[in-house]
Amino acid sequence: MTILTINSPTAELQALDAAHHIHPFTHASGLKEKGARIITRAEGCWLQDSEGNRILDAMAGLWCVNVGYGRDELAGVAARQMRDLPFYNTFFQTSHVPAINLAARLAELAPGDLNHVFFANSGSEANDTNLRMVRTYWAEKGEPQRDQIIARWNGYHGSSVGSGSLGGMKGIHAQGGMPIPGIHHIDQPYWYLEGGDMTPEEFGLARARLLEEKILELGQDKVAAFIAEPIQGAGGVIVPPSTYWPEIQRIVDKYGILLIADEVICGFGRTGEWFGSQTMDIRPDIMTVAKGLSSGYQPIGASIVSDAVEAVIGGVEFNHGYTYSGHPVACAVALENLRLLDEEGIVARARDHVAPYLKERFESLTDHPLVGEATIVGLMGSIALTPDKASRAQFAGEAGQAGYICRERCFANNLIMRHVNDRMIISPPLVISHEEIDTLIARAWKSLDEAHATLQ
Ligand code: PLP
Repeated sequence: MTILTINSPTAELQALDAAHHIHPFTHASGLKEKGARIITRAEGCWLQDSEGNRILDAMAGLWCVNVGYGRDELAGVAARQMRDLPFYNTFFQTSHVPAINLAARLAELAPGDLNHVFFANSGSEANDTNLRMVRTYWAEKGEPQRDQIIARWNGYHGSSVGSGSLGGMKGIHAQGGMPIPGIHHIDQPYWYLEGGDMTPEEFGLARARLLEEKILELGQDKVAAFIAEPIQGAGGVIVPPSTYWPEIQRIVDKYGILLIADEVICGFGRTGEWFGSQTMDIRPDIMTVAKGLSSGYQPIGASIVSDAVEAVIGGVEFNHGYTYSGHPVACAVALENLRLLDEEGIVARARDHVAPYLKERFESLTDHPLVGEATIVGLMGSIALTPDKASRAQFAGEAGQAGYICRERCFANNLIMRHVNDRMIISPPLVISHEEIDTLIARAWKSLDEAHATLQ
């Protein structure tokens, strides 16, 4: 067969793609009718497609390219590691230098006594690890009946059978026999859509107390863990009211259940601090990380666990692992990525220089007639599209139509924003400049104008 290249005609690339490639979270009919957008290169915050368009990537890929595209240092480290030791496993009392260094560095960066790292290849795999780990933890502590896990509707923890069950996405549950037993979902702290007449503070408390109600309903000696994202990402960048997390922390402390903070999006500077748990001031027993850990340059995820959890898990052979747990190339690249984030001051600059300007500019979108609210923490934000600002109303018909129209207008204007139902999301590389932020906002405004004209 002919191997195509980035210089091949777009139509040829699209036809071969549609013929043989099954895409994640994509309806194949769209690929066949319209063809995929083919991305060929990237640099900084900018993508190039096969038609030669330069596109501002306000989503950092899939919330992951924190250091920006085109960092030669990462390519160099990957090439060197492939030559020195392209693979070896970490099973059966074996280790290697990249995994040793990365685990130690993560222990240093992670807050509190989160000092031990179990590697995976993705956020989904790390959350599957967590599911098995918390149940094993309680079984080894002599409480095997503590195997129920509480999660949230509209949370996202991945799409494997375990992680998809922990997540609260009904579309995922509808396919493939999920959720698996022993997982329970409580309502999310989404004030804008579900808060009714309550103040955000009242609502935050009410939604946190659902956790306590669920613990009491299941039996407090039955619950192993509560898992949540510090800020829900794929659910639409839902920033919880200020009262929510302190109350959740009080409840998990009171009942002694493990808190798993899924930091797959929030980690590595996205919320302004190294971890969303620091921004939200919570003390997880386990953190899930992926994405920004390698800035997406290599597939890698991890569970970072506390001294207390490790003390128990370390007492048995944990019959769990992936061939590529602690893959040397992925670990070496992640370690170098953490060095860049730290030594170049990317995380600190994101918090002190980028985030305040982005917040001011992003919130100005609420002046647009289509925008009901803008929420943003650090470099993750979303706007709600509405036909009526005052009542926080939803569009008639299927949720997501307005968001879809707006996203398509963004594409046409060479801006990548994502839509979740009728919320439009940004999560740009941490290295975005003020000038690029201005471009982002100008293109978003133009796209909103065009979507508004279509929706009227
Ligand atoms: N957890 C969260 C919070 C996520 O946002 C994601 C992916 O978007 C995952 C887990 C799953 O990670 P992965 O796609 O690497 O399996």
